[in-house]
Amino acid sequence: MSAPTERPHFGRVAMIGIGLINGSLALVMRREGLVDEIIACARTEATLSKARALGLADRTTTVPRDAVAGADLVVIGTPVGASGAVAEAMAPGLGPGTIVTDVGSLKAEVIRAVVPHLPEPSRFVAAHPVAGTEHSGPEAAFASLFERRHCILTPIEDTDPEAVRVVAGLWRAAGSMVETMTPEHHDRVLAITSHLPHLIAYTIVATVADLENHLQAEVLRYAAGGFTDFTRIAASDPIMWRDVFLHNREAVLEMLGRFTEDLAALQRAIRWGEGDKLQELFTRTRAIRRGVIAEGQAYDRHVLAEEAARKDGDGADAGGSP
Ligand code: NAP
Repeated sequence: MSAPTERPHFGRVAMIGIGLINGSLALVMRREGLVDEIIACARTEATLSKARALGLADRTTTVPRDAVAGADLVVIGTPVGASGAVAEAMAPGLGPGTIVTDVGSLKAEVIRAVVPHLPEPSRFVAAHPVAGTEHSGPEAAFASLFERRHCILTPIEDTDPEAVRVVAGLWRAAGSMVETMTPEHHDRVLAITSHLPHLIAYTIVATVADLENHLQAEVLRYAAGGFTDFTRIAASDPIMWRDVFLHNREAVLEMLGRFTEDLAALQRAIRWGEGDKLQELFTRTRAIRRGVIAEGQAYDRHVLAEEAARKDGDGADAGGSP
């Protein structure tokens, strides 16, 4: 591996798990010329043959210990609940100085699960690219996934600063904006910005699924009224999200408690016909939406339409359908 410059170069990279995130990272590393050889590891030959066919890996194996042998960098990209077992299985194959990182959506629990198995814990740099889609598997991978997205690194006290610099350089080369914070802070921030919205989407879509059959047909017919956006989020990978809620329990429950209180307040305002309260809240939330767009962190078709409308100067309404 090259010296820890801004832009790293790796002789051999082992991808443990080769789905949406690790597959996309493999494509970026190839496109940017950051790596000579990529070894991919997964449990099934079905995944690995797709990874080879898509050019995500030069070699593949189902044995984590073999995958990491001789690697300069190892990237764990399995569901977070598997991180500990994967670290244990690959540890005997890790050579001296190998940097190990991950892409898991949670950080405190991953660090707790992975670090005890590693021969050089200081070379583990936990990371979370805050980018994704509702699709999974190697075929969902695309090289531009991380562009203009944040990647959060959560080094702990013992983490080697040189390893942090290398991993930060990798994500910058992928087009991401790199941030650093504590694992606990990361998990709280993501509980409110990502985990709670997913929980709400899963709930709404499940509620609809439980309704009478005739009503369901109508719901699907008029889905453009807002429901479609929830169905997209609720189509996210079930295993990944099961693991997120199981392993970020405290932070999610705290945010859910706050949300439930706010929902009860809204319920009361509707019951008592307090239109001014509703309008004040909706005005505030509209401003938040515009703030998100200004940060460059909304990139769906609505935003593209909003940006196009603004450029045309017609002052189009940014809100959704009623
Ligand atoms: P994915 O597309 O489902 O890929 C997961 C990969 O891990 C597959 O190659 C799978 O292959 C392998 N795998 C699954 N279970 C395993 C196990 N027990 N042991 C070893 N390998 C296993 O998942 P992803 O969306 O890339 O997510 C990977 C990680 O990125 C997760 O930790 C997730 O929290 C994080 N993340 C996801 C997103 C997102 O939007 N999807 C965004 C940011 C971060 P086999 O089934 O053949 O083993």
